Amino acid sequence: MTEAPGRVLKPGEAIGIVGGGQLGRMLAMAAARLGFRTIILEPQEECPAEQVASSHITAAYDDAEALDMLAALCSIVTYEFENVPIEAARTLAQKKPVYPPPRALEVAQDRLTEKSFLQECGLATARFAAIDSQQQLEQALNDFDNCGVLKTRRLGYDGKGQRRFAGPQDSPTGAFAQLGHVPLILESLVPFVREISIIAARTTDGTVVSYDPAENEHRDGILRRSTVPSAASPAAIEAAGHAAVKITEQLDYVGVIGIEFFEMDDGTLLVNELAPRVHNSGHWTEAACITSQFEQHIRAIAGLPLGSADRHFDCTMDNLIGDEVETVQSLLGKPDTVVHLYGKADIRPGRKMGHVTRVRTRSH
Ligand code: AMP
Repeated sequence: MTEAPGRVLKPGEAIGIVGGGQLGRMLAMAAARLGFRTIILEPQEECPAEQVASSHITAAYDDAEALDMLAALCSIVTYEFENVPIEAARTLAQKKPVYPPPRALEVAQDRLTEKSFLQECGLATARFAAIDSQQQLEQALNDFDNCGVLKTRRLGYDGKGQRRFAGPQDSPTGAFAQLGHVPLILESLVPFVREISIIAARTTDGTVVSYDPAENEHRDGILRRSTVPSAASPAAIEAAGHAAVKITEQLDYVGVIGIEFFEMDDGTLLVNELAPRVHNSGHWTEAACITSQFEQHIRAIAGLPLGSADRHFDCTMDNLIGDEVETVQSLLGKPDTVVHLYGKADIRPGRKMGHVTRVRTRSH
C-alpha cells in the first residue's frame, strides 16, 4: 500500500467508488457535502451515480487498466455492493487503502463463509448445511424435517436464487439443477417474530457508532418498509449492538455495515446476513438523524470523526418500487415526508426507483 491507512483526507481529494447504482449515488452526494470528489467505476454508461459523481470510469469492475486508473486518481477506494470481484478489491488495496477491507467482501460474498465467520464470532445463526448435489440436498432436508430455505452461496440478492421448503409437500426433486448446479446452502426455516437490522460505523481507530435498529418488512424477497423504532425487545436491541461491535472488530472493519437479524419469540437474535456497505434499511437516517448512514460512511473512510447517530424522529421508510414512483407528486405535497429519487429513467417492475421517509415526533 502506497499510502498510510487512516490518513485524514483533505477537502478536494477524491474517493473512488466501485459500483454506480443508487447507493453509489447517495455516497457521492454525501462525499460532495464534505468537500470530496468522487470517481465511479461502473460498466453501465448512464448509471444513477454518474449523475452526481465528479467522474465516471466506464469499464468492467475487474478491468486491469480501469483499476489502475481508479487507484491513480483517488486517495481511497470504497464500494457500494458486496459482489465486487475480490481480486479487483485486492489489486486496488495494493495501491490505495480500500474500505471496508477486502476481507469483509470475502466473508459476505459466500453465505457459507459468512455463517462460519458468524459462528466464530460467537453469534447464533440459522442451522445450515452446505449443498453441492441433489443427493446432499435430499439428505439435509431429511435432517431438517423437510423444512428449510435453499439459497445460492454466492451472488444472491433481493431473495433471488432461493427456494423455500415448508414441509414434505414441497418436493426437492430437481431443485439443485433449477438453482443452476452451483454451490448452495440449506438453512433451517426460521420461525422469527420480526426481522430487524442494525447500521453501524467503525473508524480506523476502532470507534464504533450504531444507529437504532430498524424493523424490516420484505415482499417477494425485496425490502419494502423499514420502521424505527422497531418493536424489538430491549435485550434484542442491546444484542444487535453487541453483534455489530463483535463483527466489525473481527473484520478490522472501516466504514458502514448493515447487519440483518431474525428476532425469535424469546427475544434472542439469529444473524441472517451482513452487507459490508451502506444498506437499504438505513435510508431513514437521512431524514431522522443529523448524520445519515452515507455521510457516516464517508466520515469513517476519510478518517474524519464520526457524526451523531441520534435519532430525532420516529419514522417509516418505504421503497418506491417500479411504478410506485409515479405517486411522487402527491408524496412531495406531504409536510412530514422526505422523498429521494435515484434518477432512473426506465420504470421496470421490481426496480428500486427511490424511497420515501415519513417522520413523526419521537415517542421514546
Ligand atoms: P436473504 O436474501 O437471506 O436476506 O433472504 C431474504 C428474505 O427471506 C429474508 O429477509 C427473510 O424474510 C427470508 N428468509 C431468508 N432466510 C430465511 C430463513 N432461514 N428462514 C426464514 N426466512 C428466511
